[in-house]
Amino acid sequence: MNKASLWSGVLSAVQNGSAEEVKKLACPKCGAGLSLKYDPLSPQPDATTAGLLKINCWSCVAGVFMDGLTHTPPWIEILGPTVETRPDTSPG
Ligand SMILES: [Zn+2]
Repeated sequence: MNKASLWSGVLSAVQNGSAEEVKKLACPKCGAGLSLKYDPLSPQPDATTAGLLKINCWSCVAGVFMDGLTHTPPWIEILGPTVETRPDTSPG
């Protein structure tokens, strides 16, 4: 499995998901919580700024980032630019 498809669910959720979905995201490699950090003023090659979202697992140190975001994901207004997710791992 390549890295892009491994993280595609997480990347889709952080772009389009609700605050509730984002808060429950888990690392696709180990299932632990993820650390999300959003920087709205990331420098771009054309001298403008855009959003940069860093996604890291605090357990296995896996992670991805997305740069050049032209709009701020809606959950950032609710959860803030720094989020520690808590996957729902209860057995039921
Ligand atoms: Zn992990």
